[in-house]
Amino acid sequence: PPPAANPFETRRRIPNVKKVIVVASGKGGVGKSTVAVNLAAALKRMGYNVGYLDADMYGPSGPTMLGAKDKKVMARQTPQGDVIIAPESHGIKVMSIGFLLPSEDTPVIWRGPVLFKALTQFLFDVDWGEEELDFLVIDLPPGTGDVQITLGQTAEIDGAVIVTTPQDVALIDVRKGIQMFNEVQIPILGIVENMSYFVAPDTGKVYEIFGKSKTEEVAKNYGVNLLGRVPIEPKVAEFSDLGIPYVMAMPDSETAKAFMNIAQNV
Ligand code: ADP
Repeated sequence: PPPAANPFETRRRIPNVKKVIVVASGKGGVGKSTVAVNLAAALKRMGYNVGYLDADMYGPSGPTMLGAKDKKVMARQTPQGDVIIAPESHGIKVMSIGFLLPSEDTPVIWRGPVLFKALTQFLFDVDWGEEELDFLVIDLPPGTGDVQITLGQTAEIDGAVIVTTPQDVALIDVRKGIQMFNEVQIPILGIVENMSYFVAPDTGKVYEIFGKSKTEEVAKNYGVNLLGRVPIEPKVAEFSDLGIPYVMAMPDSETAKAFMNIAQNV
């Protein structure tokens, strides 16, 4: 068939999901997966039915953070074809390319058509359970690459959350991210500034370790919301390794409250 004149005409809704949110970042290591996982967990705590899809095909870490690393994945036949059944952890339905890879240490080289096929299956052929999902949180790979473009052209996404740290270098990539989402016509819900500041546990004094943040200024310049700021909390990493989202492990902490606020804003 001739190519569609509008590349977005081919977009489809992800079945059985009310609201699809992607979590993106300009570069790796800013806490994108941490934010995605805790956003999912915060929405779960608010009483929503939530799914989490790790689409970071190059470094899927979500299942570990959600304690779902060793879950078995089953498939089911339907008249429309096979579907993969999403296992559940902490009450969240989890799906990840990591489930299907031979081992955590195996680097995967994705060639265009294979990437496209895998991603399409993860978007459209997952059984998220009998009840419709209120939210599906999709954890994207960092940057502005093939996965983002493919996703933008194949699925209807309701909004994007962009994660950054306060440093200038990270903010340059935020600008690129904003431009990309504008180009693929995905509404930007806002920016999350992660590792914003550190609160000394003994004195309560706040340290802006990366200097005065310019995120708010960048957000304003682009007409994008600042959804919230998350402090540096060493225990976040600790609980990630244990497979418990921080908002569930330490529900009364300031950091958990920061994540809950962000969830209320999406
Ligand atoms: P990305 O997905 O952007 O590559 P990750 O979510 O994997 O980043 O986070 C990178 C590292 O930083 C992880 O070890 C994670 O536990 C840690 N981290 C993320 N957010 C915070 C935070 N607010 N405080 C402390 N450590 C954090």
